[in-house]
Amino acid sequence: MLGSCYHSIALQSKILHISEENLAADYAPLLQSVNELLREDKHVTSTTLMASSEPQQLLSSLVMQVQLEQFAESRPTPRERHVVDACAHDGAAWLEMVPTGDTRFMMTSEEWRIAARFRLGKAMYSRPIQCPCCHNQVLDVYGIHGCTCQSENDCRARHDACRNALYDIAKEARLSVALEPNFLLSDTVAGDKPADVIFYQYGSGGRHACVDVTIANSLEDFSTRDSPWKPSASFVRKANDKNRKYLARCSERGFLFVPFVCGSLGGFGEEAMRVIKKVGRALGGATGILPALAIDIVRRRLAFVIQKAQATSILRRGHMGDVMMG
Ligand SMILES: [Zn+2]
Repeated sequence: MLGSCYHSIALQSKILHISEENLAADYAPLLQSVNELLREDKHVTSTTLMASSEPQQLLSSLVMQVQLEQFAESRPTPRERHVVDACAHDGAAWLEMVPTGDTRFMMTSEEWRIAARFRLGKAMYSRPIQCPCCHNQVLDVYGIHGCTCQSENDCRARHDACRNALYDIAKEARLSVALEPNFLLSDTVAGDKPADVIFYQYGSGGRHACVDVTIANSLEDFSTRDSPWKPSASFVRKANDKNRKYLARCSERGFLFVPFVCGSLGGFGEEAMRVIKKVGRALGGATGILPALAIDIVRRRLAFVIQKAQATSILRRGHMGDVMMG
């Protein structure tokens, strides 16, 4: 907020021809309150902020650094460490979604509360119970099973929401794409497993790419994780699994295969990010939006629909089991 104010101050000064120093004095108490959070050697002056082209980012990164140091000193549990590490890997993209009238990119208050609790690693059920959908696994209070349970097609709905969002935004970017053409991923040409999205003329030499969407569980193996755990490990594992299954088959048919791995707590695998950047740049070209911002829009939309689908899945099980916390 303070950083935003300084952006506004510079703008106002130019418009009104008032010296920035005089206006800056009004914000001294705010700056002081930020500095109280920081170590003395990290204190920020108004001169530093004025000289920065990204004052908001400068302040928020300093405050975040302090919060992470305090978190490390608080002796977190392995699960808490895991949530923080996973969220640090682009876990906030869905929170940066600009409100639109499009219902795909809107959450109810209840869904938003659940998505926020999931991101913060907070309990959302009053107690663990047997999952009321699969009747097989424990519905843990943190929603890990709640968003990975294979029954009731909720995982499928999460996958399809992401696939459809990718397809829709590629169309908006005027790229040549097709949704779920049959046969590419099948064992035989007569099989019916479709590719998720085909991007025509994607690679060098005009090769088409078969993009296969998959969601990795960011909280996988948190109790047995290697130390230090890397947030990208689950992305790499998923991408390797997909490549083993489909890469050779697509290659035989003249297609590139691109595993599009997204994290349940945010973030994207390397190959997914390459697709996102390509779609974002095309979206920028088609709409006149700056390429960097257009890439952010793609990231945010995909992250948002994943979080919304997961919140639905977590809520359904909590209400059915009558353990949903308010
Ligand atoms: Zn279940």
